[in-house]
This record gives sequence, structure tokens and C-alpha cells, in this order.
Amino acid sequence: MNSTPEAAGPAATGAPLPTNATKRLHPESLAVTVGRPEKVVDAPLNQAPVFASTYLGTPHVGGGELGYGRYGNPTWQALEDAIGALEGGRALTFSSGMSAVHAVLELVPASGTVVVPGNCYLGVSSAVDERAARYGLTVRRVDVADTAAVLAAAEGADLVWIESPTNPTIEVADLPALGAALAGVTTLVVDNTFATPLLQQPLESGADLVLHSATKFLSGHSDALLGAVVVRDTDTATLARLHATRSLHGATPGTMEAYLVLRGVRTLAVRLAQAQANAGVLAERLASHPAVHRIRYPGLAGDPGHEVAARTMSGFGSLLSIELADADAAEEFIAAARIWVFATSLGGVESTFERRRRWPGELASVPEGLVRLSVGIEHVEDLWSDLEQALEGLG
Ligand code: PLP
Repeated sequence: MNSTPEAAGPAATGAPLPTNATKRLHPESLAVTVGRPEKVVDAPLNQAPVFASTYLGTPHVGGGELGYGRYGNPTWQALEDAIGALEGGRALTFSSGMSAVHAVLELVPASGTVVVPGNCYLGVSSAVDERAARYGLTVRRVDVADTAAVLAAAEGADLVWIESPTNPTIEVADLPALGAALAGVTTLVVDNTFATPLLQQPLESGADLVLHSATKFLSGHSDALLGAVVVRDTDTATLARLHATRSLHGATPGTMEAYLVLRGVRTLAVRLAQAQANAGVLAERLASHPAVHRIRYPGLAGDPGHEVAARTMSGFGSLLSIELADADAAEEFIAAARIWVFATSLGGVESTFERRRRWPGELASVPEGLVRLSVGIEHVEDLWSDLEQALEGLG
């Protein structure tokens, strides 16, 4: 990377990097307690949003660690502490999941080799293709559920990018198997957006980096864009490189967004529990509906990802995908829904669905009739009635 310590800010020069609480509480408790300010009488219980482009103090020559708003912010820090504690590492936040994705890709030599999922979030797939076209990055695409294929593709690669479960096809990777086999071989990055740290702990499984579109579950209310990367506690060198990229590229989160996402993290456990319980019920019912040609939900006993998910995750999550006859059937279904919202994005308190192939450039491997369902926290019977009436008459 072409960073100079001065331009990258204090953290890149050896000033203290963000710290987070050690992982000793249950995740539900960490989500609520980590990132609070010092206990001082009359201080707000939670970190207040700090709006500042400039801080008093003179890093490098006199004192202070922040100096300028692009290098750090107490509100980001509180959120980073919380996300870091939940993932069991040290987190850095970014302006969006995609800016976090690009910061990770900056770790790879421009003409290096990356392994990416054949099915994954379109933005990630497009980001590596853009680097391939511009800089000669070699991209190898694999089925993340096929551990042997991932390991074969990883030979000589600089980075293996895993998304699990995948967006929008809900395929599940065997993270412990990949983590064990790739340790010391190459860098393993896991996009944990769909599972969240409450259902899956990639660092514990051997991943080197964890990525989040915190826009989704961590925020949980469809009102903020934010990304995060988590590294192992000991990997201060990578943390410093990511920090330098964030500072130099200006890929910094907004104060208000960081505040909102931390507020979301406080209720992540209860939101996810309710959404996941709803998803389990809906998946069972959808699986036997005549209009549903195929369903992917790792909680279903017959799902190709069930065995791995049951072994490696502590829950099956709240995302599922169904395949209807074709694009027209899917569009008809979506248009008929009243409670479910047809909108992209996912992981909010509200139930949403999305036909990914409506997006130009979406991977051809995603079926035209596939609808991704992000199950929310509404009453499950209301959600089911809506789905049932929307599916009526579809063959
Ligand atoms: N990773 C996954 C799995 C996603 O679904 C998304 C967005 O949908 C991203 C990364 C990118 O995140 P953002 O939209 O916050 O930039």
C-alpha cells in the first residue's frame, strides 16, 4: 500500500490502536455492555454521538491520539469495541460494507489471486472483477459449500473470500474445515453479514478477517449504512494497514450512523432470536407449498447446508430463498404481498423480500424466479397469511 504514516493518521504511527473488552461475557451481554463510556457521575450511560472534524491536542508532537476526524472518533470507537468483543477480535468501522470490502481487497497485491464464492453478494463479485480488469487481479470462483474445491482453488492464492450463508442463494461453507486447512497457507476472510457473530464465530474457526455489512443485522432498522472489518487481537499489523486505508481513502463512517448501529447492536440478540424463530416456521410451511419449487434454508433437515450449519452454527438465521416458476411468478408474488416489503437489503426488523435477478448484472447462476426472504420480527401468523395469499394461484 502507498501509505505514509503521516497521511494515515496517528494509529498507523504506533499510537494506541482501539482496544476492546476481553471476551468473557455471553454474546447477549457483550452486545449490551461493551462500548459504554467511563463510569462518571452524570455521564450518559451510553456513548453519545460526537460530531467533530477536529480535536484539540497535537498528535505526533504533543499529545492526543485523534487530531482529525478522519483518523478516529469516540462514537466509532464504542461501536468498534462492541463489534470486536462480539467477534472475538478488534474491529474497524467503515462508511459501508462495500468500503470495508475494498479495504480488505487493498491488502492483496494488485495482480495477486483471490478466491471468491461463485454465488455471493453482487457488489463483492463486481469489486473483484473491476480489479481484474484494471490491475490484472486473478479471480477464481468456487462453490463455497464444496470444501475440497475451495482448498484446491486456494493453492497459491493471496486471499480466500468466503460468504456464508451466501447472498442470495443461502449456501453454507464449512468454516472450521476451511479455517484449519488454510491456516498459514493464505488469508481467509469471512463475510459474516448473514449469520452475525451471534450465530457464527469465524475467527474462532480459523479465519483471519471477518467482514460485516453492518447496514444489515447489526443496525437492524434499515436506517444506516456502515461496514466493519474484524482482525484477530494479535494482528495489529493488519489492523494498522486497514486503518491507514480507511484514513487515506476517507472511507470513514458517519458519527450518526455509528451511533445508530451501536444502538442496533444493543438489541441484536432479541431481534435475531425472534426473526430466526419466525424463519424456521415459515421455512417449514413454504417447503410444502405447491407454488414453491425449491427452498433453501439451512434449518430444514433436507437442506444441502443443514448438516454443516447444524455442526458449525448456533442457529440457522433468518434468511431463506425460494424459487417460484419463473420471473413473472416471482414478480406477481412480490406485488401481491401486503406486510412483506419488496425492497433490497435485509436484516431489518421488517420482513422484506427481493428478486435479485431484477438487478442488471446479477450473476446468471441466480435463478430468475428466486426470491430472497429476510424474515423480520412481526407476528409469524401475519407473515404467513401474507405469504399464503400472495402465493395463491401461482403454479
Ligand atoms: N456483504 C453482503 C453479504 C451484503 O449483502 C452486502 C450488501 O447487501 C454487502 C456486503 C455490502 O454492504 P453495504 O451495502 O453496507 O455496502
